[in-house]
Amino acid sequence: MTSHVKSAMTPIPFIDVAAQRARLGARIDRAVGAVLDSCRFVNGPEVAILEEQLAAFAGARHAVACASGTDALAMLLMAWGIKAGDAVFCPAFTFCATAEVVPWVGATPVFVDVKADTFNMDADSLDRAVAVAKAQGLTPRVVIPVDLFGQAADYDAILPVAERHGLKVLCDTAQGFGAAWRGRRTGSIGDASATSFFPAKPLGCYGDGGAVFTDDDALLPILKSVREHGQGTDKYENVRIGMTARLDTIQAAILLEKLDIFEGEIAARQAVAARYNTLLADVATVPVLAEGATSVWAQYTIRLAPGRRDALAEALKADGVPTAVYYRIPMHRQPAYSAFPGDALPVSEALCAEVISLPMHAYLDEATQDRIVAAVRRALA
Ligand SMILES: *Cc1c(COP(=O)(O)O)cnc(C)c1O
Repeated sequence: MTSHVKSAMTPIPFIDVAAQRARLGARIDRAVGAVLDSCRFVNGPEVAILEEQLAAFAGARHAVACASGTDALAMLLMAWGIKAGDAVFCPAFTFCATAEVVPWVGATPVFVDVKADTFNMDADSLDRAVAVAKAQGLTPRVVIPVDLFGQAADYDAILPVAERHGLKVLCDTAQGFGAAWRGRRTGSIGDASATSFFPAKPLGCYGDGGAVFTDDDALLPILKSVREHGQGTDKYENVRIGMTARLDTIQAAILLEKLDIFEGEIAARQAVAARYNTLLADVATVPVLAEGATSVWAQYTIRLAPGRRDALAEALKADGVPTAVYYRIPMHRQPAYSAFPGDALPVSEALCAEVISLPMHAYLDEATQDRIVAAVRRALA
């Protein structure tokens, strides 16, 4: 028997997927077993039940489950008929998938800077990026604000700019599902939203998964058609170009169990983040929430003076504390994306050199967090 007392040398996980697995294991094994027994591996009844519960949780009229967050983004661009010559505005400081789906449909990603305090899209930069796109002969069509690191984007500022330019608002809430803006959950904001159930996201499954949310009744059948090879009323009639983007029934069954405890996990993440903020505010720039926004803390990310980040990561590693850098390269400096246009992006560039993320999950106990905090304070002293 190993001791249940965690020694000072117990390795600390960056995200403790195993702790949740230990809590839910028996329930999930039963749920997966039921799907295996039913043999309804694709489009089983659990998928529709999950869609209903996801929509209710988000406060959206419709949820369409799909195979990944990336597919969720792509399904919306396809359903809206975004095409060559169209401009889609994406933050430069994000995970690549936000912009990756844009060239899939032949359109052009146009990069927008973010705000130094919240790391989320800067509406003034969006306004300037629209002018850049127009000057290049592109038609502004969609903006994809990202709820980065779990915090709802600055929709107060973004929605009016989008409306003024006739842009559809596609919220990339892959990291922010469960967060809120002015009391509304992400998934119920803008024209539609995309989220991800990748295991490391706040609500993760045991493989890849995602979902689209919208209040638009007319869009729903188009999304379902896109998800299924562009099928028409008959299964083997194809009325548009689509994809294979279904969520496996097994993943839906797992997500139903996890959604059941998600509200409590969000509260636990928020408590961990609040405690980090209190204990680290005097040694680093700790994350801030914009007025009216909440976060589900997909990442807990601090900012350091230029040149100090990599030394901190090394020192923490020696102390058994894992860290990660989201993101080291802004989108417009990535080889695959450097030819695309955008606004000036100084904040995205600075953040890429200065941010570092600490272990964050719903099962981070105070003793372990104290070890992390002590190591950070030692390294920055
Ligand atoms: C994870 C992520 C995605 C993509 O989700 P997948 O399920 O991995 O395809 C898209 N956007 C952002 C901001 C993400 O963090």
